[in-house]
Amino acid sequence: MRVKPQRIAVVGGGIIGTAVARELAHRFDDATVTLFEKESTLASHQTGHNSGVVHAGLYYEPGSLKAKLCRSGVEKLIRYAVENGVPYDECGKLVVAQNTDEVDRLEAIYARAQANGVPNVKLLDRNEMREVEPHVRGVLALHSPHTAIIDYATLTESLGRDLEAAGGEIRYDAEVARLDALSSEVRVMLALPGAQGSKVTEPAGTYDLAITCAGLQSDRLAVASGLEEEPRIVPFYGDYFVARGPAAEVVRGLIYPVPDPAYPFLGVHLTRSIDGSLMLGPNAFLSLGREKYQRKVGPIGGVDFGDLGRTLGYKGFWRFASQNLKAAAREAKTALSPQAFIAEAQKFVPTLDATAVHPGPRGVRAQAMNPDGSLVDDFVITNRGRLTQVRNAPSPGATSSLAIAEYVVDKAVESLR
Ligand SMILES: Cc1cc2nc3c(=O)[nH]c(=O)nc-3n(C[C@H](O)[C@H](O)[C@H](O)COP(=O)(O)OP(=O)(O)OC[C@H]3O[C@@H](n4cnc5c(N)ncnc54)[C@H](O)[C@@H]3O)c2cc1C
Repeated sequence: MRVKPQRIAVVGGGIIGTAVARELAHRFDDATVTLFEKESTLASHQTGHNSGVVHAGLYYEPGSLKAKLCRSGVEKLIRYAVENGVPYDECGKLVVAQNTDEVDRLEAIYARAQANGVPNVKLLDRNEMREVEPHVRGVLALHSPHTAIIDYATLTESLGRDLEAAGGEIRYDAEVARLDALSSEVRVMLALPGAQGSKVTEPAGTYDLAITCAGLQSDRLAVASGLEEEPRIVPFYGDYFVARGPAAEVVRGLIYPVPDPAYPFLGVHLTRSIDGSLMLGPNAFLSLGREKYQRKVGPIGGVDFGDLGRTLGYKGFWRFASQNLKAAAREAKTALSPQAFIAEAQKFVPTLDATAVHPGPRGVRAQAMNPDGSLVDDFVITNRGRLTQVRNAPSPGATSSLAIAEYVVDKAVESLR
């Protein structure tokens, strides 16, 4: 027989932690659910620094968690957005091949999209693709009419309000130092400022269940809590450029390149945002800090020496680097030169006015990596006793968040048997 949890802790107020806490508060209405977030707002990291695309599920390995949770996540997200007045625009997406090599890869993506049950996808020739996007250039395009855009920070705030309305509590500025798994409960230890910049820990209660959704810090929190060190998080930044006003009107929806199958990032794309602007990007390059968004010309942004040392001291990173020299050289071009960055977008939309494009925000991806240098592609959710961890939730993690929440809660509840 299953025991009903009475006290539940969730760590991390990104979209996944907030969705998980809301799901718990609705499922166990007589339990107290506490969401611990180290920043003073929700969605301060990946959730508030992304492309805002509601992916339809084109690319993912059929049968993988990504493929399943993306498709069911989209359905849940649309329903939620409509019922809660969160602005959502089904603007559609083209994935555009520029040469015969890319045509072969695009056809493989089309087969995957069909296997994943993505509705109404079609291959379009040059003329047909221009009916969808009059300024696009390419030889063949995959059209996904139901791919959409949303503001994930707005969505997360709405989920946070649901959590509080259901009796849950959000503790802001509450950094969890570690979780101690005891025989029948989990103790949450907070990190508080000590003397001369040091940190001291203090207990913040014991819980029947604890779930961590710490994004860029997921491996650190796991190690501090006595759990596996692998997979490690290696941060990859993505810069955006932005066009506003008439310059943005050259694109109606979303235009993507055909991704390099050896690399997990999608390549510089053109994305309309819910505020009407046009975003170009993101590229993908090693970040010198996990939570550094400051942007300078070239690849050097803010540096966190602790984060950098952790990346450079990891043998998996060096293996990854040696296996991906070609992709790194390609990405370095867009990291070093704004002109090269904008030229990537102009391959797809030659009429894009480079003079109307300005540097935009930066996001940092939490990319899990194995010791052999391979990148962990799928979502990774593990549990030990009453402690469940979301270890890897890259894109389409935001799209899939409501489905991930149900999946994670099911998995966590199994531990109570
Ligand atoms: C550049 C970029 C573009 C992307 N584009 C898309 C897209 O278009 N569509 C899509 O579906 N996905 C996209 N993604 C992926 C998506 O943003 C993530 O999958 C999603 O935001 C992950 O949510 P999360 O809650 O796991 O992580 P986060 O949003 O990073 O949240 C983790 C939270 O945990 C908190 N935290 C960490 N450690 C502690 C601690 N010790 N104590 C307390 N709190 C802690 C952090 O402060 C943070 O608020 C993109 C990501 C990036 C970076």
